[in-house]
Amino acid sequence: MTPTTPDPTALPLERKALLLSGQDFWSTSPVAEADLPSVVLTDGPHGVRRQEGDFDQIGLLQSVPATCFPPAVAVGSSWDPEVAERIGAAVGREARAIGVPVVLGPGVNIKRSPLGGRNFEYYSEDPLLSGVLGAAHVRGQQRAGVGASVKHFAANNQETQRMQVSADVDERTLREIYLPAFERVVTESRPATVMCAYNKLNGVYASQHRWLLTELLRDEWGFEGVVVSDWGAVDDRDAALQAGLDLQMPGDHGAGNQQVLDAVRAGTLDEAVVDRSVRRIAALAGLVTEPTEGFDVDAHHALARELAAGCAVLLKNDAGTLPLAAGQRIAVVGEFARTPRFQGGGSSHVNATRVDDALGALREHHDVAFAPGFALDGTGDAAALREEALAGARDADVTVVFVGLAESDESEGFDRFDIDLPVAQVELIRAVAAVSPRTVVVLSSGGIVSLEDWHDDVDAVLAGFLLGQAGGGALADLLTGAVDPSGRLAETIPLRLEDTPSHLNFPGEQGHVRYGEGVMVGYRHYTTVERAVRYPFGHGLSYTTVQTGDLQVATTGPDTATVALTVTNTGERAGRHVVQVYVATTAGPVRRPARELRAFTKVSLEPGQSRTVTLQLDRRAFAYWDVREGGWVVAPGEYTVQVGRSAAEVVAEQSVQLAGDVLVPELTLNSSVAEWFEHPVAGPQLLEGFLATMPEGAAEMHAGMLQMIGSMPMRRFTADFGAVIPAAELERLMFAARSAR
Ligand code: BGC
Repeated sequence: MTPTTPDPTALPLERKALLLSGQDFWSTSPVAEADLPSVVLTDGPHGVRRQEGDFDQIGLLQSVPATCFPPAVAVGSSWDPEVAERIGAAVGREARAIGVPVVLGPGVNIKRSPLGGRNFEYYSEDPLLSGVLGAAHVRGQQRAGVGASVKHFAANNQETQRMQVSADVDERTLREIYLPAFERVVTESRPATVMCAYNKLNGVYASQHRWLLTELLRDEWGFEGVVVSDWGAVDDRDAALQAGLDLQMPGDHGAGNQQVLDAVRAGTLDEAVVDRSVRRIAALAGLVTEPTEGFDVDAHHALARELAAGCAVLLKNDAGTLPLAAGQRIAVVGEFARTPRFQGGGSSHVNATRVDDALGALREHHDVAFAPGFALDGTGDAAALREEALAGARDADVTVVFVGLAESDESEGFDRFDIDLPVAQVELIRAVAAVSPRTVVVLSSGGIVSLEDWHDDVDAVLAGFLLGQAGGGALADLLTGAVDPSGRLAETIPLRLEDTPSHLNFPGEQGHVRYGEGVMVGYRHYTTVERAVRYPFGHGLSYTTVQTGDLQVATTGPDTATVALTVTNTGERAGRHVVQVYVATTAGPVRRPARELRAFTKVSLEPGQSRTVTLQLDRRAFAYWDVREGGWVVAPGEYTVQVGRSAAEVVAEQSVQLAGDVLVPELTLNSSVAEWFEHPVAGPQLLEGFLATMPEGAAEMHAGMLQMIGSMPMRRFTADFGAVIPAAELERLMFAARSAR
């Protein structure tokens, strides 16, 4: 605000309270006396969804045409912050063109279960990947002058009962898995707003969770922007405001504001709390600008195609089936080739400026036979449709089968019940594979689908997920080899739904969902329990081959290291390779996952080219959240830095010793005998005094004794086993331990 702008907090209470909730579904109230225009906030994140009308959050009404860029599920698979940043920037340009100052997104929640209905709106099962991509999206969008809203804060990992359910998550799991992506976005990219989730976190609505919205977000992470509610997430306006929720969206015709006014007048709410939020919301008005000249629709479509091609994942490619070769007889089967599935349903649904289909794009270069093979809505004569498709497949050298899920199968608002493709599509794949010399399957879906029942019958599988409006062209570019596939899985594809770590605790019961798997989410679980999966996190093939060598890991301090390695393109084609660095350790008092992704980068390599890649591993790359200390701790010990082709395949590794943090735990009489004897300060002194009072051979007895009675509280040990250790000595040692902390 410039010094000449009237101070909104100087307005009468009724006027400033207006700012605390929307004037309608998509905008804040203007306050003329304070020179504050209305601020429009609309979805996001992979395209602008500006609705002409009101009250249609779930997307029944058309919105203004905008480019539908690849949704987060695809961006996650790009493993490329540049993709996310360029999407953010382009969305920002489009928003400016239609006068939208805040676009809601990105969503950085973790894909806890493959059944999650909004998994297509989220990046990954891994917090580092989610955070890096989310931060890049926000950077791009905000550099274009449009505010972002990182969402849904926090632990919004399912749609079932999303407005009531309590996500019951222990502190370490929250800190290590569900919060770091938000933390990175907030601290690195400073989004204009953070959107709170619908659900409760450990029994308290996110919208009125003081620890989440104030202590963590503002006091710890330094967030200075506006906390906005998810649409309709406010239960108690007064409690929400006190907890740190600034803006209630959408407006509720003044009911929430009235509650605030009543509370101030009754003296139960300090007006300073109102002023604090009013100042933050007023600052958003700085983002309002005149609409720009429009945007280049063709250029954005071309950009959407280029970026989409970097997102699809080539899962399987036996005997060089792909890319398709010139002169091959090609049959295309599957309605999705003609009617693409390219985005998810619900609030993020974009009214695309145009839509490419893969069939049309392939026909620009190849003579292609086509049969739909199935009906999208499952109607029609499945056997007849299949027979028609088989006729083409029999005459072809290669048949490309486009299968997937319909928008009605997965959307905001509900979770899936299984990860299966429709039966008719599975039967079609198998039937085609039985008659076609080569079969390629192209998958379109927002969540992962099971590949069992048909995987071994086919020669190649390309997972497109949802690639946005130009996805059809991008898929054709990949199939023909115009572009090398460079996506990697951001989510594990399991063998069975029952293998997924959240299976027994998803989507919860009786109002609660218990995150019983703790930190063992996604690949952390599969690698730790050594459970086979169909395709691991990080997996993805290319048309070229890359070798990793010269791994050098050097510590740069007690809890940091540098990783250097060389990657060489040993194939015939240019390609983009993702370097994945994991850290494995058993150091510390808590159960660590077998390995965790701690750094990654995507590099371009010409045929024969070698590049040296250097990555920094900061303290957090080695730390765990220690609930006793209430902080991040790097345990002293051995850490193995692993370069993986995926989370399941390590191609190079090197171990380092880290000095880490020397923790001096507090001792009380309730601390166990083992904690006393193993204490770095008190332990040696205690042992010395103890042994002096004992007969010959006591030193040998000591180890056995600790094993047997190590868990006994010291208070009981001294009481039950006589005054072996004088109370005054224990007092002295407790003091020594405290002083050393
Ligand atoms: C969704 C948000 C969205 C908002 C506005 C809510 O239902 O959860 O992601 O931004 O609606 O459409």
